[in-house]
Amino acid sequence: MANPRIHLVLGDQLDHRSALFDAFDADRDVLWMAETVEEATHVWCHQLRLAFFFSAMRHFRDAQRDAGRTVRYHPIEEGAADFAAALQRDAEELGAEEFVVVEPGDHRVRAMLERAAEAAGARLEVLPDRHFYDSPAGFADFADGRKSLVLETYYRALRKRHGVLVDGDGEPEGGAWNYDKDNRESFGKGGPSGVPPLPRCAPDTVTREVMATVADRFGDHPGNLDHFDLPVTREDALAYLDDFVTRRLPDFGRYQDALWEGERFLYHSRLSALLNVKLLSPREAVDAAVAAYGQGAVPLNSVEGFVRQILGWREFVRGIYFLEGSGYLDRNALGAGEPLPAFYWDGETDMACVRDAMRNVIDHGYAHHIQRLMVLGLFALNLGVDPLAFHEWHMAMYLDAIDWASAPNTIGMSQYADGGIVGTKPYCASGNYISKMGNHCRGCRFDPKAATGDDACPFTTLYWDFLDRHHARLKGNRRMGFQVKNWERKGEAERAEITAAAEALKRRLREA
Ligand SMILES: Cc1cc2nc3c(=O)[nH]c(=O)nc-3n(C[C@H](O)[C@H](O)[C@H](O)COP(=O)(O)OP(=O)(O)OC[C@H]3O[C@@H](n4cnc5c(N)ncnc54)[C@H](O)[C@@H]3O)c2cc1C
Ligand code: SF4
Repeated sequence: MANPRIHLVLGDQLDHRSALFDAFDADRDVLWMAETVEEATHVWCHQLRLAFFFSAMRHFRDAQRDAGRTVRYHPIEEGAADFAAALQRDAEELGAEEFVVVEPGDHRVRAMLERAAEAAGARLEVLPDRHFYDSPAGFADFADGRKSLVLETYYRALRKRHGVLVDGDGEPEGGAWNYDKDNRESFGKGGPSGVPPLPRCAPDTVTREVMATVADRFGDHPGNLDHFDLPVTREDALAYLDDFVTRRLPDFGRYQDALWEGERFLYHSRLSALLNVKLLSPREAVDAAVAAYGQGAVPLNSVEGFVRQILGWREFVRGIYFLEGSGYLDRNALGAGEPLPAFYWDGETDMACVRDAMRNVIDHGYAHHIQRLMVLGLFALNLGVDPLAFHEWHMAMYLDAIDWASAPNTIGMSQYADGGIVGTKPYCASGNYISKMGNHCRGCRFDPKAATGDDACPFTTLYWDFLDRHHARLKGNRRMGFQVKNWERKGEAERAEITAAAEALKRRLREA
């Protein structure tokens, strides 16, 4: 019989319809999976993130064995330090001369696999990732000849190509492509009422074993394991999607941008981690939402808002990741170099909005989009944090952080370090924005309007300082005109006072 081929399944490739299975010969080939110290520590990984990945991988391994496939699996308890070395050892033992893998969603991992194959003298076959609607080549075609890449154009093209919420003539359902204006409500004084709680998937034996190992070996990593409640099997993931579509999607649209203290998930789906490890496919999510709309159970602004996130943003950021290549991570268009403040790891701060968002990150390895963009990301942007440090923090702390999804959002959308590839302007704002969108400022010791003085809101101080630092660049951006003019209107004395307050704040943060 011919030598076995090693089919690699990476931790974010738990896709039961993977291209890996097309030519898999159950009599000859081996599925290969490994939990390695290197992958667990290349960034200082949140404990829940480690447990989620290891548990989902082990459940996938068991499902594959049940399906009659041979799986060689290296659990973290074996202590394999290095992914490539473990692979090379097994290739020698099995006499494998060929590795097969689906396109990794991380340039670092792809380069590592190429080196490992070379060291083992094996051929590496890289298969397309069918999980997504589009491919890197499809996105490159879209980008070809365009001066700038606009989400809206790409999103409309994908909706037409895949017949999602369009009629037979390719016209948008309801007559408009975009219902963003209906999707910016805040909750008003009383706050949200009756937000349906998320389903809780209690840890089973496999998960409990993994949690014990993570607590034992990685107990000094950030975050905690007290709230493990996510699905780790395909069946549970499908039920989780169904629960979202039935109970929270109807109000997803209107409150998409809202914030509220203590409300962890609001009407968001919390599906990103399940999608990104591929327990769910984006088509399943989109089809379920569109079907609920078809049955009259969900309004158009909600379903369009949700489809825009999955078919639009999710595909768009992946396209940019592959188009830009590995150099994207080193972008730093604004020359930002401040260290990441300590509270990004432990949540210890007086800022009520940051403390609340960090509670979510620490307990759940999650924050919803507005917490990421307009609280945690905004603070780093206003302060001028080194974008790579912000990205690496994100990769460590979120369950859904895979390089292809994270980098364009951190380096691009949030920190504007790509100089305008993902977004046409930086998402800079003062504490007033946070005050408008939620209730955190009411109970905060700072005043969102104040830029100087004892009760100055750090967001506001640093916002004006940001406009000052980048005045020359931002002046040339039409979309920034209003904000830049407001800074220019301030008198010399006030500007000097703000700059001094910002410098003092930066010093305190560096020393904390
Ligand atoms: C600084 C920053 C970093 C981010 N890093 C990641 C990341 O590492 N992984 C990740 O999946 N998302 C990332 N996002 C995008 C988005 O914030 C998360 O997908 C979303 O908050 C996940 O929560 P949810 O599943 O409840 O999303 P929902 O609000 O319910 O949205 C539905 C789905 O749409 C998709 N989606 C929405 N926006 C985006 C986007 N901008 N990019 C990609 N997919 C999107 C996600 O799959 C999400 O599950 C980041 C955003 C910011 C601002
Ligand atoms: S006052 Fe400033 S720091 Fe406090 S909650 Fe509002 S925006 Fe956040």
